[in-house]
Amino acid sequence: MSDCLFCKIIQGDIPGDKVYEDENYYAFNDINPQAPTHFLVVPKKHIDKISSMGKADQELIGGLFTIAARICKQKSISDFRLVINNGAGVGQSVFHIHLHVLAGRAMGWPPG
Ligand code: AMP
Ligand code: ZN
Repeated sequence: MSDCLFCKIIQGDIPGDKVYEDENYYAFNDINPQAPTHFLVVPKKHIDKISSMGKADQELIGGLFTIAARICKQKSISDFRLVINNGAGVGQSVFHIHLHVLAGRAMGWPPG
């Protein structure tokens, strides 16, 4: 999608601090980290938010978690928090589905 920030990062039009890439997924460090480790895993396919995904996207979205766990294992990170914001009211600011992976500090619950 031409005016999507994350599509531009995936395509290399805007620089991103890449952590991982394969045919379907891209992961990069968050520009405003909320923990010592904070990266985002995104599908290369543009889907704006979880509530827009169709049944055909189930496997693709599920793969975000597999990729996140694999990257954490490679980084020897055992405890991590996974977050997906859906909608501006809960903090979604970039409308291309992304899984936040946060680690490296104690975290409270419930989240703010
Ligand atoms: P959300 O608020 O859930 O939509 O998350 C969007 C995330 O994208 C925020 O944590 C931002 O810090 C992050 N972000 C925004 N612009 C960039 C960028 N150019 N490179 C990396 N992360 C970004
Ligand atoms: Zn996009």
